[in-house]
Amino acid sequence: MKHRVLITGGAGFIGANLAGRLLHDGNEVTVYDDLLTGRMENLAAFRDDPDFRFIEGEVEELPDLPADRIYHLACPASPVHYRKDPIKTAKTSVLGALRVLDLASKCGARVLLSSTSEIYGNPLVHPQTESYFGNVRTTGPRACYDEGKRMAETLFMDHFRMYGTQIRIVRIFNTYGPKMRPDDGRVVSNLIMEALHGRPLTVYGDGSQTRSFCYVSDMVEGLVRMMEQDGFTGPVNLGNPAEMTVLELAEKVRALAGGKPKIVFRELPEDDPVRRRPDISLAKKMLSWEPAVSLDEGLEKTFAYFRDCVEETV
Ligand code: UDP
Repeated sequence: MKHRVLITGGAGFIGANLAGRLLHDGNEVTVYDDLLTGRMENLAAFRDDPDFRFIEGEVEELPDLPADRIYHLACPASPVHYRKDPIKTAKTSVLGALRVLDLASKCGARVLLSSTSEIYGNPLVHPQTESYFGNVRTTGPRACYDEGKRMAETLFMDHFRMYGTQIRIVRIFNTYGPKMRPDDGRVVSNLIMEALHGRPLTVYGDGSQTRSFCYVSDMVEGLVRMMEQDGFTGPVNLGNPAEMTVLELAEKVRALAGGKPKIVFRELPEDDPVRRRPDISLAKKMLSWEPAVSLDEGLEKTFAYFRDCVEETV
């Protein structure tokens, strides 16, 4: 069925991939983004599509736009970016959630919150299930994002309980792929950009901390399935359960770059989670979803994407 879809933060990495997928499926897509971390070039391929439109603005000031489906993705999500102006990050998360909920209940739309694995903080339960309450330091440098998203989840659930708003909550784990910013600051983009510029690959700490990396097309599939699933609010984890150390990831990028770059180590940022891996049993059961793209395949595609970006700027 054709829907009028609104994507807040749709010029960002996941949002722009999602916009492409939804247009391809025959939907009308409006992207709303303040371009703080989102980029128009992510949307260049659909600029002339009559089913696509772009509106620039901050999510707290989202106008009343008609929609059947709202994917709420607006918020800087990379630690480097969300820590730059932590008060703005917290405001975007909390006030943005209130604004999209208000719009969704006014126009009877389904609204999906892109929450995050960061709500688990530095997890004491491993792998992380949705029933785990998390371990976040309220006063730490990551709290603006972590607590902002936790509050957004609370507001979504309360809107559902008070007004019956059709909410969906998804907790997104580390995701990578084309349309990431070269200066995104996250580990996959940093390592690949370093490799492409012939610089040493920088691993924070001793590289023994773990993450699990999900390719963006898998993530987009999970988001769409969750939105279209009836009678299930979530929260649900979406991510790739294949866990590895950051050092192992750096070795993989090094191999893609022909084994040349050196690996160097620098101080671990404060409150950097020691390990992270989603338990995706619930997504498997409720959405029949699990990632299909292996890390090797996804990294190769991402490497090629960044190589093209670098060549274009030469
Ligand atoms: N990291 C790294 N080198 C980088 C960027 C990040 O070793 O250039 C580490 C970071 O300390 C963390 C992991 O890689 O342990 C993932 O970091 P990222 O910023 O991608 O996302 P996070 O999972 O921390 O939100």
